[in-house]
Amino acid sequence: MKKFRHKKSLGQHFLKDKNIVKKIADLAEIEENEAVWEVGPGKGILTQELLMKKCNLTCFEIDESLYPILFKKFGTSINLVNKDILKINWKEYLKEKQLKIVANLPYQITSPFLFKVTENADNFKKVVIMIQKEVAERINAGVGTKDYGKLSLKIQFYFKVDYGFTVKPHLFFPPPKVDSAVIVLTPRKDKPCLEDEKFFWKVVEVAFQNRRKMLRRNLRMILSKEKVEELGVNCKIDLARRGETLTEKDFIELYENVRTLIN
Ligand code: SAM
Repeated sequence: MKKFRHKKSLGQHFLKDKNIVKKIADLAEIEENEAVWEVGPGKGILTQELLMKKCNLTCFEIDESLYPILFKKFGTSINLVNKDILKINWKEYLKEKQLKIVANLPYQITSPFLFKVTENADNFKKVVIMIQKEVAERINAGVGTKDYGKLSLKIQFYFKVDYGFTVKPHLFFPPPKVDSAVIVLTPRKDKPCLEDEKFFWKVVEVAFQNRRKMLRRNLRMILSKEKVEELGVNCKIDLARRGETLTEKDFIELYENVRTLIN
């Protein structure tokens, strides 16, 4: 097996600061014997802290050359899975289980990773992740702000979002170029129940397709000119608005009206 060397392509910025690691692990509020996934344990600094909580820990690490280091430190006290977290069959690994995720994520997988998390949202009790600060701000953004968009709406649809804290580059080795942030996602108990969630996201996608265009123009991608006019008469949402000004409730109103028009 090859000796370990830092790989930029795998987003290997390892945490150096034990206080930060402790703060991340504490945010997960882990109970004894609870099932926890860590994505990308690296050399195991966060893993060590999580194990102190006496949880049932499964770690997914893509880099085979970290395997001996992790095995030497933790032996069989963790379930180490040498696989790409984006390529595993999540449904198979999760089964009906309820668990928590804690991770200092490799930044380049943030979007596809969050997509998997929302797809399987019912399986998670909490998701505590360190990501780029700029992405954390977009996830946490309120309607009408410059950061508000599809990502904010999507994550906030499934989860309550809490901004944990900011982490500066010098607390990693090697240091990343940008600030990082820890966020906590907790499944919403009041998540809207929609008949056709897939179509709801289609409407959202279309509404944000061109941020500068009014809803009226963007909706032409899925509706004829006549139908858009009809929508303008029947829907409470003013079609001269732009997607970024619509709350979740507004989007639901829009989706329901578009759906009625199409069916
Ligand atoms: N947890 C460690 C820490 O905080 O020091 C390492 C975090 S480092 C930012 C990200 C880790 O994720 C690296 O160890 C990297 O090899 C691993 N990784 C990258 N892409 C991955 C993927 N698709 N699936 C699983 N692990 C991955």
